This record gives sequence, C-alpha cells and structure tokens, in this order.
Amino acid sequence: EAKRAGKNKHCFYRPEMLAQLNRTAEIATLLKRLEPARELWLAFQPRMHLDGRVLAGAEVLLRWRTPDGEEIPPQEFIPVAEETGQILRLGYWVMEQACQTLSRWPAQATPLVLSINLSARQLFDELLVERIEKLRQRYGLSPAQLEFEITESSAMRDMDDAVRVLGRLRALGYGLSLDDFGTGFSSLSHLRSLPVDTVKIDRSFIRDIEHDTHDRVLVASIIELASNLGLRVLAEGVETTGQLQLLESLGCDDVQGYLVARPLAAERFETEVLGSWPHWQAAR
Ligand code: C2E
Ligand code: MG
Ligand code: MG
Ligand code: MG
Repeated sequence: EAKRAGKNKHCFYRPEMLAQLNRTAEIATLLKRLEPARELWLAFQPRMHLDGRVLAGAEVLLRWRTPDGEEIPPQEFIPVAEETGQILRLGYWVMEQACQTLSRWPAQATPLVLSINLSARQLFDELLVERIEKLRQRYGLSPAQLEFEITESSAMRDMDDAVRVLGRLRALGYGLSLDDFGTGFSSLSHLRSLPVDTVKIDRSFIRDIEHDTHDRVLVASIIELASNLGLRVLAEGVETTGQLQLLESLGCDDVQGYLVARPLAAERFETEVLGSWPHWQAAR
C-alpha cells in the first residue's frame, strides 16, 4: 500500500505540474503584495439591447498589471485570489471603483447598469450586502444601477445561503444575473431556484451557433425556457453579425461581445460609448 502511495506521489510531481504549482505560488505572493491603486484598473464592456440596438450597460472586468509590467489575465489570478481569500479585498476594490466611476458619468435617459462579477467567497461573505449598500449610498447610486453576476458553481457551494443572499439583494432592488449559463451541472434546476433576473448564455454555446445545429437548438431552447420563466437572456461572446442576427431571430434580449465592443478602459468607454449617447450603436 505504502509503495503504491509512493508511486502515485512520484507520479504527481510531473514537471509541468510543478511549474503550475510554482506559478500559483508566485501569483499568490504577488497578490499579497499588490497595491490596488497602482496595479489594478477596470475595463468596461458594453452590453447592447437588441431591441433598438441601444446601450444597456456594461460589465466590469478587472485588469492587473504587476510592478514588473506583466499583465496577468483574470482567468489566471481570480482562481488564486479565490483560493487564498485575497478576492475579498480585490472584490471590494472593484465595487468601490465601479461605483465611483458610475457616479461621475452623466445621468442618462435610461439608467446605465454596471454588472459586477462575484465569486463564491464574495457571495458568501457575511458583510457583502451591508458593504454593497454602504458603497452605493456613498456614491449616490440607486440599486437599479448595479447588477451582480454569479455562477452556478459558486451558488452550488451552499444553495440555501446563496438563495438567501441573492434574495436580500433582489429585495433591495439590485439586478442579478446567472453567468456562464449552461456550463454547470444542473442548470435547469438552478434557473428555478435562484432569484436572478437575467441569464447569460456562456460564450462556448455562441461560438459555433452559425454552423453547429446542435448548439443552435440548445441556445434556442435556453432562450425559450428563460423567456417563459420571465427572465432576460443575454448572449456572451458575440463576435460576428451572423451570430447577432441568429440570436435576434431566436428572441435573445441582449448581447455582449467583441462585435459590439471589446472591454474598454473608463476613459475610452466615456469618449467612444457614452460620448455618443443616446444613439450609441454597434457600428456593424
Ligand atoms: P466572465 O464574467 O464570463 O466575463 C466575460 C469574459 O469574456 C471576459 O474575459 C471578456 O473579456 C471575455 N469576452 C467578452 N466578449 C468576448 C468575445 O466576443 N470573444 C471572446 N473570446 N471573449 C470575450 P476576462 O475579462 O478575461 O475575464 C475572465 C473572467 O474572469 C470573467 O468571466 C470572470 O469570471 C472573471 N472576472 C473578471 N473580472 C472579475 C472581477 O472583478 N471579479 C470576479 N470575481 N471575477 C472577475
Ligand atoms: Mg461575468
Ligand atoms: Mg460570463
Ligand atoms: Mg463566460
């Protein structure tokens, strides 16, 4: 038995795995030393209503440039920050910056909604709701101007607790969306129990929608089901006009993706998107 365990152990430390462990440890160290004001910034990616092709709001996406000038993508550092608990500090920094940025943007005819991603640790932080409320009030925003994106896998860690927290946010008037929809294990049952108002169909289902009948049928079903449940449907990762037209014909409400715009720094978002309000449209 011991021999077998030893063998397995030996097998475990393969060079590429060791490299991965080192990278994770390195990111953890950099995260501990991170000075938010110097190293972090926010990107804003527009969301567009298909109806009228008007701006619906934007998703807030965190960006990190280390003191060495290296840009580490969120796919790489968010999981480490989640693991080490640093995500709470980063997450509240994101919220504060987002609220501050939104408060200095001119009031629009339709309120501009900023969507903020919440990871599992953030969702289950006991102080979450109070801290959101405090920030919102400090910057003079209304709850309808903010939306929180959660994933099924985060919520699944404690469904009862997730439903309770989301219920409180919803009762206060915040928007809630289910991100990366379709990639979880039991998406349909979650759609029924989680009090969200928007479903974001994961980019992986949109990618081949023009050529893959199977994906098209899946997306059509998700849109129909969500609509029947009274939820809005947003498609992520829309890159082509073909995808956009197809989604429109299937009754999708909103889109987000490189076709409409890439995530933009606040200044560019202000000049290129807000600058042409209210007739902001995808040029394509
Ligand atoms: P997500 O919430 O699903 O965000 C969408 C991701 O898709 C973003 O990647 C965005 O840049 C990318 N994207 C948007 N349109 C397109 C497109 O047309 N084509 C392609 N190929 N990609 C597109 P990003 O910014 O690298 O973020 C990755 C993930 O990191 C996010 O996925 C989210 O889960 C997480 N994340 C980012 N910012 C935060 C944050 O402030 N807090 C937390 N907890 N997670 C964050
Ligand atoms: Mg998201
Ligand atoms: Mg997403
Ligand atoms: Mg996604």
